[in-house]
Amino acid sequence: MATVGPLGPVAARAEAERCLYCFDAPCVAACPTHIDIPSFIHKIATDNSVGSARTILAADPLGATCARVCPVESLCEGACVRAAIDHPVAIGRLQAHVMDAYAATGRPFIDTRPVGERPVAGRVAVVGAGPAGLACAAELRRAGIDVTVFEARERAGGLCDYGIVPWRHSRETTAREVAEIERAGATVRSGVRIGEAIEPWRLLDEFDAVFLGVGLGQSRQLGIPGEELDGVVDALDVLARVVHDAPGGPRLGRRVGVIGGGSTAFDVAAAAVSAGCEEVALFYRRSEAEAPAYSHAIELAKSLGVRLRWLAAPVEIRGRGGRVTLVEFDTMRLGEPDASGRREPQPVPGGRFTVELDTVVRAVGQRGVEGLLDGFGVVHAGGRV
Ligand code: SF4
Repeated sequence: MATVGPLGPVAARAEAERCLYCFDAPCVAACPTHIDIPSFIHKIATDNSVGSARTILAADPLGATCARVCPVESLCEGACVRAAIDHPVAIGRLQAHVMDAYAATGRPFIDTRPVGERPVAGRVAVVGAGPAGLACAAELRRAGIDVTVFEARERAGGLCDYGIVPWRHSRETTAREVAEIERAGATVRSGVRIGEAIEPWRLLDEFDAVFLGVGLGQSRQLGIPGEELDGVVDALDVLARVVHDAPGGPRLGRRVGVIGGGSTAFDVAAAAVSAGCEEVALFYRRSEAEAPAYSHAIELAKSLGVRLRWLAAPVEIRGRGGRVTLVEFDTMRLGEPDASGRREPQPVPGGRFTVELDTVVRAVGQRGVEGLLDGFGVVHAGGRV
């Protein structure tokens, strides 16, 4: 499975010279962190890779990870005006190139306040060392504020560490960014689960502010009978276990069925094939045109031989001796558009069918860690503040 990696120095310069350095550049407006893209590309074209990386880092302390995991085709590159001439500037690959070159120099990613300058009063606790928590910690250290990050898992990085398949992103890139945030003076306490090891009230008591960067770390349930059976597992746990060989977590059987239509569902299906599962199928209740997954994730799953069953919705999981043996599905057809604007799937009368499976992977989206939000007295609706 090929990785679209960073460009080499010669190719990067040639690619940088394709940029039109647009005024009011649409690529910048399309970037969630508003990196000054024409400026960093211009610096590549003029052999100033250090200055280029610093332009990226000024807006995005996780610029190396973002270069690899951002869905650039629907963000910066999707907005690039060169698409109308020939094809978009390869912004993501340029960013990966320049961030790698900068990392090799050993220079710090995050500028902190000069030595001798009066420290800023106040201490902040950050709960969750995923991208939000890490970015918050980096910005606080830039401002000279004392920050401690608490992470329940053994490694910091959140989804960037355990939730992305290795052919799209190397977790070492994120580990490097975590190390740089620590180098800038943040304390990262991994393996500390707030709500168990430390109660929320203690953080509220001991720190001047608490930032909750707990993300959407829990998989959604399917809401059908039989979900409690052994062999029904969550997509994120599969990624952590199968992709990164983490201890514990679910083992996959011989016949794996993934339920869902997002990129995570297709990535898990591809990971199951690469882990040696004999039969891997993916079931989605709408058609391919409605699937929210990126097309490259769908194409990869197809190329690996994942059987794609569109217009199939699970209605019951059945088992023997407490273990999954088969899943019953409804065949669906698409009706009128629903609240999301997509055509609503409806069961076809008499279209029920069963598939024998050893493992069912839930990949129908994630939700917030509601208990933790409750612990901090945050008002939320289903995990969303
Ligand atoms: Fe360069 Fe494309 Fe951005 Fe224009 S939109 S500045 S051509 S990358």
